[in-house]
Parts: sequence; structure tokens; C-alpha cells
Amino acid sequence: MKNIIVKPALSVFFILIVFSANAQLDSTHLSLEWKAGVARVLITPEQSMWAAGYAARDHHTDSILHDLWVKALAIEDAEGSKALMISADLLGFPKALSDGIRDRLEKEYELSRAQIILSGTHTHSGPVLVDALYDIYPLNAQDIPIIEQYSGKLADQIVALAGEALSSMVPVQIYAQNGVTRFQVNRRNNDASTLHAQSELKGPSDHAVPVIKVIDKEGNLMAVTFGYACHPTVLDQYEWSGDYPGFSMIELERLYPGTTALFFSGAGADQNPLPRRSTGLAKQYGKELAAAVERVLEEDMRELSPTLAVSYSEIELPLNPPPSLNELHEYAEAPEDYVRRWAEKMIYKMEKEESFITSYPYPLQVWHMGDQMLVNMGGEVVVEYAINLKQIFGQDIFVFAYSNDEVAYIPSVTIIEEGGYEGLISQMVYGLPSTWKADIESMIIQEIVRLAEQAGIPQPADLIESSLLK
Ligand SMILES: [Zn+2]
Repeated sequence: MKNIIVKPALSVFFILIVFSANAQLDSTHLSLEWKAGVARVLITPEQSMWAAGYAARDHHTDSILHDLWVKALAIEDAEGSKALMISADLLGFPKALSDGIRDRLEKEYELSRAQIILSGTHTHSGPVLVDALYDIYPLNAQDIPIIEQYSGKLADQIVALAGEALSSMVPVQIYAQNGVTRFQVNRRNNDASTLHAQSELKGPSDHAVPVIKVIDKEGNLMAVTFGYACHPTVLDQYEWSGDYPGFSMIELERLYPGTTALFFSGAGADQNPLPRRSTGLAKQYGKELAAAVERVLEEDMRELSPTLAVSYSEIELPLNPPPSLNELHEYAEAPEDYVRRWAEKMIYKMEKEESFITSYPYPLQVWHMGDQMLVNMGGEVVVEYAINLKQIFGQDIFVFAYSNDEVAYIPSVTIIEEGGYEGLISQMVYGLPSTWKADIESMIIQEIVRLAEQAGIPQPADLIESSLLK
């Protein structure tokens, strides 16, 4: 502020401007624009520990392909409503850890669950977190304190990170648009081992690349969030990395120096990046996705008016009764270690006449930013949910999964009836006592419709007639 000399005539002009701006603020309490702030924290483990996501790894991971990060984007609309998007290079957040972090965010910053998206990118080359899928890893007693200590520090880091993002907000403009790329393959309907001989891929898949662009007053790209509906399972080795989403974020931050890139996984639980299993392929898919985002950023995007409405609920998704003791004894002979471990635990509980859960509190969330609808679903959601939601709400909506609670796989009716990994076996991986009842799909879709209405999203006229709601 030093060395500024304002000529008398001009100073009167400035005073008038300030006065009229204040008058406007006093009468409306509006800033008429978005604000946003970003922050990041390094979470690459400092000690060797188990990497998450595969039952087949047989020792700790201790080298680094690239660093792991948690990144936060805080936004505030013209009326002062705030929200927080958190993307972490992790498999996902198990319920207890997520609840603990979100409770602390509410206490420290008065953010309700509706205002927070806490999401793992679902990389399969990040560390195992506390109480997450313990049955599938050959953990021993020394591993547990390492995992607990890492998870405790992670929670502290995320709470501090949120504070940093929330306290650094500046005026911005926000834009949204879907792009497209097509490296995911429906893994249920195409055989990876013979894929090279296929001239056509069988769907369904969701090729959308949802992009949110945040531009500061100087015209710089402050942040970009983007997504894709495909498992980050290119890599299965013993090096920490964010898999293809990690490479995408690195590429975007290289293309746009100073920006913060945040990845949010779509409903791609039944989609794999194929072919896979080399660092070169993870880089390739990362760059393909970054190129899709770059194209969207460089072309016209829809500017979002600075209004934000959010809604959240947890619905009790019903489970089938557990298998009989005889069936469990058959599972206890299975070739897979994790199926045997699951069956032995179930038999132990059943013989002690312990009770089993009959439902699970499943988190769903809808954000309405300007005219942009964002659906955030917990768990590993299969692609039919995104396709059905887009039939109801249109192709411009964004659908994110793996949000707020890793839960388990969330199969569609079709996949529940077909069985296989996503419909049956994966429930054991997640330690659930049984499979989902077939009506979970209509329960979830109906609840999203209700949350959308609560967030002020215009309901399509023919919604009530939609067969998807029956
Ligand atoms: Zn998965």
C-alpha cells in the first residue's frame, strides 16, 4: 500500500465506488462470485508397509514410483455456503476412519457430512489403512501398529489440510464440462487374456471425463478436478504410486504449473484399464486421461453461477441371510486364502451364536453447483448406476464413486443375479456376512432422486414414469 498517490478528483471517484459496493454488500450480503482455496499434503509412507488392493502381494512395499498425496479443494458460493472436496492417493476410506475424519471436520470447521466429499482415487499401490480389508492380506501382529500409526497421522494431516484450503479462499470462477476417453474395458464382458484378438469391445462402459475448472482473478488455473470410471489397477507391484490417476495428476500439474489437480473415481468397479501391468501403460493411460482433460480445459466450458446446495444421507441397504453352516464349510475348503479366512471367521461366529448384520448404512450425496449435478456414491459402484442416473438426469451430470466410505462392491440387479466377483465373491473380500438383496439398485436410485430434489435439482418431467424407479 505504500507509495500510492491518489489525485483528489480520482479519490472522490474511488470513495464513491467503495461506498456503492458497501451499500450493495449491506443490502444483499452477496459477493456475487465463488471463492476457492487449495492445499496438498504428502502421504507417501516413510516406512515399509503393506500396499492395499490385492490379495496376491506377499511382502511389504518400500520403494517409490511417484509420491502419494492428499489434496483439498474448498469452495464457497455467493451466500457463503462452503464445501470441501478431498482426493487421496489411497484405495478408499473405510467407514470408521472416514467417520472419524468427518466428525473432526464438523467440529473444527462446522462442515456437515453433506458438505464434504472424502474420496480415495482407488489406487492399488497405496498403503493399507486401519481396519480396511484385513482378511485379504497376510498381516502379522507387527503390521497392525504400523497401519494404525499411519492411519492416525493421515487423519491429522487431512484435518490440517482442510483448514489450509478453507482459510486460503480467494475469488474465482468455476466451470464444468464432460470430456471423453476410452481406455477402460468392461472386465465382466471381455476376457483380458484374449482381448488382443477382439476387434470389438463389449460394454457397458461410461466414457465420460467430468471436469471442473477453477480460475482465479488473474486468469490462472488454480485447480482442476476430473474423474474417470475405471479401476486404477494397471500396477500390482511393490512401489508406491497413484497408478494411472497419479500419472494424470502429475501430467496436468506439469501442463499447468501452479495448478492443483484432483482425481475422483467414477462408477468403474467392473471396468479395468486393459491391457495392464506395466509402468509404461500406467503412464500412457495417465497421459490419455490428462489429454482428455486438457481438451476440455482449452475448449468452451459451462460457467457455473455461484450457488451451492448439498444433500447427504445414509440408507440401510439390506443383505441376504448368511450361508448355512454346511455351505460355509465348503467355502472353508476354497483355494483362495481370503475366502477360507472369511469362511473360518463366519463359522466361528455362527458356532458362538453371534448375530450378523442384516443391512449396511450406505452413504449417498448430491451437490448442485450452479446448474451442475454431482452424485457421490460410497463403495465400488458398477457402471450401470452411472448409465441409469444419466438416463434420468441427462448426460451432463457427474457421477463419482468411492466417496465417504469404501463399503464394498455395489452391484446392479443384473450383476447380483449373474454373480461372479462383483456380485458375490467381493462381499467376502469386504467381510460382509452375505450378498446384497436385489432391490438395492432401485433403493439407491430412488434415494439419489430424493437427494437431488432436496438440493434443488429440477426433476425431469417423466421421472415418475421411469421404469428405473420401479
Ligand atoms: Zn476395486
